Amino acid sequence: MFCKNCGKQIDENAVVCPHCGVAISSALADSGSFGWAVLGFFLPLVGLILYLVWRNTKPQSAKKAGIGALVGFVVNIVLSIVFSSAITAFMATQL
Ligand SMILES: [Zn+2]
Repeated sequence: MFCKNCGKQIDENAVVCPHCGVAISSALADSGSFGWAVLGFFLPLVGLILYLVWRNTKPQSAKKAGIGALVGFVVNIVLSIVFSSAITAFMATQL
């Protein structure tokens, strides 16, 4: 087969083009869409799994999913701290 990026002939099983370094098998599928970041944000566990599965074959999409998952995790932690603090403060006023 031929590299989609540089057009040189490469091995059928090549994952990365030895001539230009572009990922081969998923070059078209690796859109790096912002949608993966959104998915990772709302479903951090799914984003983390996608990141681990895609990091070698779809680096752009994996990066987006990973960042989304990371932000999702942080926001979840911050919200739960704020929420538990608010509950504690509310309980204190009731005593
Ligand atoms: Zn190439």
